[in-house]
Amino acid sequence: MPDLRRDPICGRWVIIAADRARRPQEYVATRPTRRGGPCPFCAGNEDQTPDEVLAIRDASIAADGPGWRVRVVPNKFPALTSDGAQPCRETGKGLFQQMPGLGLHEVIVESPDHLTSTSQLSQAHLAEVLNVYRQRLLAAREDRRLAYALVFKNVGSAAGASLEHLHSQLLATPLVPTAVLQELHGAGEYYDRRGACVFCAMIAEELAAEQRIVVESPDLVALCPFASRVPLETWILPRRHASHYEDLSAADLEQLSGVLRQTIARLETVAGRPAYNYLIHTSPFDTSRLDHYHWHIEIIPRMAKLAGFEWGGGCFINPVPPEEAAGLLRQNPGGLD
Ligand SMILES: [Zn+2]
Ligand SMILES: [Zn+2]
Ligand SMILES: [Zn+2]
Repeated sequence: MPDLRRDPICGRWVIIAADRARRPQEYVATRPTRRGGPCPFCAGNEDQTPDEVLAIRDASIAADGPGWRVRVVPNKFPALTSDGAQPCRETGKGLFQQMPGLGLHEVIVESPDHLTSTSQLSQAHLAEVLNVYRQRLLAAREDRRLAYALVFKNVGSAAGASLEHLHSQLLATPLVPTAVLQELHGAGEYYDRRGACVFCAMIAEELAAEQRIVVESPDLVALCPFASRVPLETWILPRRHASHYEDLSAADLEQLSGVLRQTIARLETVAGRPAYNYLIHTSPFDTSRLDHYHWHIEIIPRMAKLAGFEWGGGCFINPVPPEEAAGLLRQNPGGLD
């Protein structure tokens, strides 16, 4: 019989309906191969993007030319834009609230070479990318009109990527996004009732049960959550309580790089290079350390389509139990250097 499972953090229910006849990779849209034409993210094509806002390069090399390792540029087609000193106030009337579409939308190009997977980066290079995320989060929070920035990656057209060259994005908004608000709300309620962080409690239970653990390092754990929405959904969390990704040290980022790279390599081995998103959930800008919220990365492989029940009910039907998903990911390490 299928299971109804409740996510312990935000209370979202999912249906885990194991389909024994099919293997996980049959549910996942794989990435198409490259389209032709020059790539605006490759080194040498810097004039095809807006001017860089940050690049990791040797100091002797000028901006907006080759010689970089990680490069951040404004999105050419931004969802939200920063417009000088314009204040951000609600302008709607009555029921219909609105506000100016103020924000930041940046692209983080993760390699000068035309790589297409995080698992192709060295651990040291990926640590530099993770540090750039940190730096751009810190820069975005300087603008007092902004409330949050989500760092995310789209891989494959089924996950929303229009270019295959390895990149991620940062979208900073004057509001805290709904999914983050739901987690903050659920975690706040748990904290009020139990006086503890629900993420810390979840990690302790998962480590004791061992059933859904994928990768462990001294300070981090990757696991398939109990109420996984899609096959092979995997989260990476710090074992010790920490509310802000921005507070990570260089050593923390190096370790996170190792775990993220391994997790992606495993996912690619099990599912045959699927389309996926990953995203960083950290605390809102106007907070200092929070006792009830715990930063994490969610990796969401993208099944072919979301259907009526997902749209209408906000409820996912997952045909691969996370215990099975974690077992497959554990057994298939992927061919990392
Ligand atoms: Zn390229
Ligand atoms: Zn915690
Ligand atoms: Zn989350």
